[in-house]
Amino acid sequence: MGKPSFIKQLVTFAKAATDHLVAGAPQTNDDEKERRADICDSCNELDREQYRCNVCGCYLKYKISWADQTCPKGKWNIKKEEQSDDV
Ligand code: SF4
Repeated sequence: MGKPSFIKQLVTFAKAATDHLVAGAPQTNDDEKERRADICDSCNELDREQYRCNVCGCYLKYKISWADQTCPKGKWNIKKEEQSDDV
């Protein structure tokens, strides 16, 4: 299966951004952002020129900072400490 079309990737990114805003725009801490960036940097789905994920089309500059987001391949997920403290 090939890379999704540019339009589909933009739609997916727009949905991720909307979900992020609806969730209250939670941000990762620096350690988690670095952990996610390290995983993406070693992933063969990374578009290094645009720093975008070829699976979801998201701009990783933003997505790795959004605490509510997950990797579409399950390579990084929401860590417990990144979830709300209001539990
Ligand atoms: S979000 Fe996941 S699939 Fe996409 S580049 Fe990063 S590690 Fe790879």
